[in-house]
Amino acid sequence: MSAPHEQPESQRWFDRALIVSPGGVNSPVRAFRAVGGTPRFMVEGEGAWLTAADGERYVDLVGSWGPMLLGHAHPEVVAAVQEAVSRGTSFGTPSRPEVELAEEIVERAPVEQVRLVSSGTEATMSALRLARGFTGRDMVVKFAGCYHGHVDALLAEAGSGVVTLGLPETPGVPAHVTADTVVLPYNDRAAVEAAFAELGPRIACVITEAAAGNMGVVPPEPGFNAFLSETCRTHGALFISDEVMTGFRVSPSGHWGLDGALEGWQPDLLTFGKVMGGGFPAAAFGGRADVMGQLAPSGPVYQAGTLSGNPVATTAGLTTLRLADADVYAAVDSWSESVQSLVTGALKQAGVPHVLQTAGSMFSVFWGVTDPVTDFAGAQAQETWRFTAFFHAMLDAGVHLPPSAFECWFVSAAHDDATLSRMAAALPEAARAAAAAPEPTRTT
Ligand code: PLP
Repeated sequence: MSAPHEQPESQRWFDRALIVSPGGVNSPVRAFRAVGGTPRFMVEGEGAWLTAADGERYVDLVGSWGPMLLGHAHPEVVAAVQEAVSRGTSFGTPSRPEVELAEEIVERAPVEQVRLVSSGTEATMSALRLARGFTGRDMVVKFAGCYHGHVDALLAEAGSGVVTLGLPETPGVPAHVTADTVVLPYNDRAAVEAAFAELGPRIACVITEAAAGNMGVVPPEPGFNAFLSETCRTHGALFISDEVMTGFRVSPSGHWGLDGALEGWQPDLLTFGKVMGGGFPAAAFGGRADVMGQLAPSGPVYQAGTLSGNPVATTAGLTTLRLADADVYAAVDSWSESVQSLVTGALKQAGVPHVLQTAGSMFSVFWGVTDPVTDFAGAQAQETWRFTAFFHAMLDAGVHLPPSAFECWFVSAAHDDATLSRMAAALPEAARAAAAAPEPTRTT
């Protein structure tokens, strides 16, 4: 095994990747641009651990950005996938596991029908089209700092990689496409009311992350999602709750299980991804039967996909969801709380001002702030350079965190005392590094 800072194998692969792929990656945040250094090329995942090309093992707190609720290479998921693969990888016809996966989703979430797709982006893009087709309206309301995939109309003031890379806007999105997108501050009821007062009859839908996780974790204030649902109902718009990140992760029925199910409201449409694909490219959107019934071939709103409902991907997702029982959610919640208290303890000890925010078992740290963060402006006010120092100290000590202060940390049911010990050993030094990190000098 090489010394902590040297990663000759990862570096070698990254150099090769840089020649053949833009930025050396297939999704921007993986490139470590926000934190610098060489992304680790992983060769194996097992439980809560990842092994990189240079042989060192890391506690994984990325979880493939959410899907790995059960941990990596869960034996039952692997066995089900192997069995499915051995029977053929794609038929281009209806197949049994896609029906079973849809049934599982309908049982857990407040949807009457679902359409399976291959990525979260495809889910939100299709939900938007359906909302526009159903209402006959064009305008879409979204919230600053929420990320819904790289859908043209939804990239305005987006979180995740867009904020990580500090991109003010994305070239290639025609102005007329975003002209129908209204971006409002998250958690701001007055702004929503004002938008509907002015544009109500033109608004097709409001889309929001069920709990924002792509500007760091910023939970909806109590009643905010209910308010959005009610406002949409009053004005004849649809309420789309994007549960791609939260779905089947923060409760058996996603974030809705933590608010709507208790408060007695339902979104008109929901989008799902990540956990429901069990680490494979599977996602979905679903909702009211009368709305979903507008989709082709039942209705006129067109949507399709060569690999939609792929038998291997749906088998992985179905097996994952069937394994995700009450014990799994209790374990994820409990490991998450343990990690959170280790992190805040170490940061307090080192005197690093911070706020740790949660949405169920999802959490993230805002650096150098003392008040709760409720919106994108608050998230952007944090001292990201402290995270950079913290991140590298943790990485050198064998803990793989999301490489951006604006991303959520994901724990799995496979985390255990050994992963906590590794973190406990790494944290004091990382917290001191965060405390001592100098503010970068500004060049402008
Ligand atoms: N919606 C949310 C809330 C997400 O977090 C993401 C991805 O992180 C997406 C949509 C897009 O999903 P995908 O990356 O599968 O396209």
